[in-house]
Amino acid sequence: MSLERTLTIIKPDAISAGHLGDIIKVFDSHRFKVVAARLVKLSKAEAEGFYAVHRGKPFFESLTHFMSSGPAMVMVLEGESAITRLREVMGATDPAKAASGTIRKFYAESVERNAIHGSDAPETAAFEISYFFPGIELQ
Ligand code: ATP
Ligand code: MG
Repeated sequence: MSLERTLTIIKPDAISAGHLGDIIKVFDSHRFKVVAARLVKLSKAEAEGFYAVHRGKPFFESLTHFMSSGPAMVMVLEGESAITRLREVMGATDPAKAASGTIRKFYAESVERNAIHGSDAPETAAFEISYFFPGIELQ
């Protein structure tokens, strides 16, 4: 076990549907500590930079359009094994395949509009945290 930080985004579908508070309660119940948070409206270019690893995939245009379509909440969460634990709490990318009790099972609308992002490895967490937060904003 090790103390980790991970980047999560409560995506525009979940914000517009009014699920922000409920999703933050899930973070609290799993003992994630919030070390930074900001409501953002990404530009298309910012969404493309964030999801650059998916450039060229069939869903890239639609995904980056969706991610820049309205406010999203970016947060840095800290906890023991936070990266893998958050991925478990999120559930599978496709909500139809997400386990019961997961955030995506409860709140995702579709494989694209799936409520939440979470970093998938220590290297991506480091890149994603620095993409949104200068060190001075991390508590
Ligand atoms: P995220 O990176 O957002 O945490 P993930 O790691 O579960 O999600 P990825 O494979 O990294 O899934 O895909 C990034 C995002 O792209 C997904 O969360 C989803 O919004 C969208 N996406 C992935 N696959 C598809 C698809 N087949 N059709 C439409 N959108 C997709
Ligand atoms: Mg991913």
